[in-house]
Amino acid sequence: MHFATLASGSSGNAILVGEENRNFLVDSGITVKRILANLEMINLSALQIEGIIITHEHSDHIQGVGALARKLKIPVYATTGIWNEMESKLGKLKPDQIVEVDRELTLAGMEIRLVPTSHDSRESYGLRVAGKRHTLGIATDSGIVTEEMNKRLQGCDAYVVEANHDSQKLWDGRYPWYLKKRINSDVGHLSNVQLAEALKEWLVENTQRVVLAHLSEENNTPEIALNTVLGILRDSSVRQRCSRLRIRVAPRHTPHELIFLGE
Ligand SMILES: [Zn+2]
Ligand SMILES: [Zn+2]
Repeated sequence: MHFATLASGSSGNAILVGEENRNFLVDSGITVKRILANLEMINLSALQIEGIIITHEHSDHIQGVGALARKLKIPVYATTGIWNEMESKLGKLKPDQIVEVDRELTLAGMEIRLVPTSHDSRESYGLRVAGKRHTLGIATDSGIVTEEMNKRLQGCDAYVVEANHDSQKLWDGRYPWYLKKRINSDVGHLSNVQLAEALKEWLVENTQRVVLAHLSEENNTPEIALNTVLGILRDSSVRQRCSRLRIRVAPRHTPHELIFLGE
């Protein structure tokens, strides 16, 4: 199994997930041109992408979806609720490109389980993706870590997870009050500390990789996110338990290198 973020943050999100020669995208919130350029940067052919699954209908996740689906002639997968909000924004798709999904589906040979997150969109989901030998947990855009997230996302081999903001920077920063309250709310975004506390529960001996994603440009820095998470994990037993663990930050506009999960 392999994965890479192609872009990450409020200016656009997309994650590539694959196994052998079969791949799919989680969201496509940047232009087609940038998706194709960023795929090329990780030496992956767009022709190997079999579909796009949508986590929620916010524009930083769906901006390029319609155009990309038309260009690659691939289907888009989302729940009925997300389709209701999103369909008019994607432009014209063929009927067989519109796939309504439930909480479980198979895409590019991998089993996907949708895990509801707590966010101010019509619906929003994280994903647990199971390949032949490995599992990947994906969760961004959630104001809190819910019981269900804890239950479903525990014990994966790798993660792409939201470390959106440093709370101090958020409150001290120049965002308007309503926006600070929205981000900090139960339906906003996860802080570095909230995520680290969740990782203490989720990470297991087998966990190899964590990619911190959806960082705020204004209220976080890659250094602060990484140091906060590492600091909290170091103070717990996680660092000893997970001897193979490597934690990196997803770049905002460029892809993270393709990560291959090993035995
Ligand atoms: Zn987002
Ligand atoms: Zn969102």
